[in-house]
Amino acid sequence: MSRIAYVNGQYVQHSEAAVHIEDRGYQFADGVYEVCEVWNNQIVDMPRHLDRLGRSLSELSIDWPMSRPAVEFVLRQVVRRNKVRNGLVYIQVTRGVSKRDHFFPPANVAPSIVVTARSSSPAAVNAQAEAGISVFSYPENRWPRVDIKTVALLPNVLAKQSAKERGGKEAWYVDADGNVTEGGSTNAWIVTKDGKLITRPAESGILRGITRTAILDLVEREGLSFEERPFSLEEAYDAKEAFVTAATNIAMPVVRIDDKVIGNGHPGSVATRLRELFHTATDLKVV
Ligand code: PLP
Repeated sequence: MSRIAYVNGQYVQHSEAAVHIEDRGYQFADGVYEVCEVWNNQIVDMPRHLDRLGRSLSELSIDWPMSRPAVEFVLRQVVRRNKVRNGLVYIQVTRGVSKRDHFFPPANVAPSIVVTARSSSPAAVNAQAEAGISVFSYPENRWPRVDIKTVALLPNVLAKQSAKERGGKEAWYVDADGNVTEGGSTNAWIVTKDGKLITRPAESGILRGITRTAILDLVEREGLSFEERPFSLEEAYDAKEAFVTAATNIAMPVVRIDDKVIGNGHPGSVATRLRELFHTATDLKVV
């Protein structure tokens, strides 16, 4: 089946979809994005993703490319037109097309919008969750505004590639104080030996993950022991469990960090349970 993308007002063949060479996303990484999970023909937590998109746009003084209901409509359309039952939908908004110049373009330049969707295999992701993943630590080297979901992901690309070359699936950034901030494309969690779930506060050093927020709802609902505070790499090495969260993998158990086996080397019960319950704590919008 041929794939369809939405580009600046038109649904086009994915293979032919293109933006102008002077799009500011292409030249300056001057844009933001969101990735939503599609699960059973539903877009997961779309309102929260669009709230965060609005915040990212506003922090960078980029206008919405169209009204929010219109964006919702296009997200649903792209999922439907690509017949995605399980997978993801991606939206990117940039400051638009203009002569290359660092200064913002004139006010009449409209933001650019691109939406794509693709299927993924729940069986493959579940198989990975049953085995657990390895992560590798990496010195934090990103700008301080990681709370904005920008397309400027070069540090994340390099950190994740470095993890991959060592046999891992994710990199964990470690700040100057020795604390884990987050993953290259995920939020980081541990469970201490006495069963307390720990994740870093979203006030600094991390993106406020939508999956993280949904998991926090679940943690509260299930009455799990929980603390929002920074944790060190050393503490993570010694944890009973570790896992990462993101729209693309829900809660993914971590069984190894650097050369240290975590817990008994198998996915932990807390991560596995949160993974199972995840969609009972999310807002589901039928496409
Ligand atoms: N942290 C970073 C740096 C990310 O890129 C992502 C997702 O792309 C996340 C955390 C997880 O966010 P979400 O749960 O909204 O997918």
